[in-house]
Amino acid sequence: METFETVTAAREWVARRREFGTAIHLVPTMGYLHEGHLSLMRQAKADGGDVVISIFVNPRQFGPTEDLRVYPRDLPRDSALAADAGVAAIFAPTVAEMYPPNFRTKVVIEYLATGLCGAFRPGHFEGVATVVLKLFNIIQPDAAYFGKKDYQQLKVIERLTADLNLPIRIVGCEIVREADGLAMSSRNVFLSADERVQASALNKAISRAQQMVRAGERDVKSLVGQVTQWIEREPLARAQYIEVVSTSNLAPVETIENEALLAVAVFVGKTRLIDNGVLQV
Ligand code: AMP
Repeated sequence: METFETVTAAREWVARRREFGTAIHLVPTMGYLHEGHLSLMRQAKADGGDVVISIFVNPRQFGPTEDLRVYPRDLPRDSALAADAGVAAIFAPTVAEMYPPNFRTKVVIEYLATGLCGAFRPGHFEGVATVVLKLFNIIQPDAAYFGKKDYQQLKVIERLTADLNLPIRIVGCEIVREADGLAMSSRNVFLSADERVQASALNKAISRAQQMVRAGERDVKSLVGQVTQWIEREPLARAQYIEVVSTSNLAPVETIENEALLAVAVFVGKTRLIDNGVLQV
């Protein structure tokens, strides 16, 4: 497995692989890898071709009061895990490599990026779309893999790719969870022992909401009320948003027909966690 810090080195490696006609599959990450990330890499490998992952804690997707400085980082550990997962190369650029001092461009995705996390993290999805478009242009992958845990992010990237006619297949992958249902996240290391136990309330509440919908509940207001109660029954959990939206365009839904997405963002102590699940009639 090879590791590059510069755009030039990454491009040269990709060009060499292309000479053999090899497909390139990209998995963008912010590192501190866990089973969620590794499942994306395994799927990218199973689909054929060389897997390139990027590890870059992108400052432009963090707000001024967010956890950029303390975001966990461990490149040696990540390299070992990636090598085990069959990754061919890691692109781990510095901030200066990605954003030289005269950098002036940003990518704005309208509408899709304004609700849910976008409402509470101004500029976040512009930062995401900008860095992902850069990664797409640097690596020029045939396919790129994203987790459904960041459902809104996946939709934003799908829109970006379609709107700008990028010849890249976007693959959405299922959420990988801990044994008690907590969605895996690099941020889970911030949770204290008490917070970690209480954090399982997010997925439990989503699962109960899914059962309610299967049993006939259609009214979003009463579902959201229930889910809020179940989550906030945990003394350290405070909801930032609990919303039901269209799975395709993320527009708010009032009555569930066929399917909808239940998306939640919850502070457990000081740590902000997100999770979601599809409500199926
Ligand atoms: P991150 O390093 O948090 O930016 O995540 C990198 C990629 O891994 C994104 O596409 C995430 O959606 C995906 N991912 C993170 N956690 C999980 C998880 N628990 N299950 C599936 N995919 C995940």
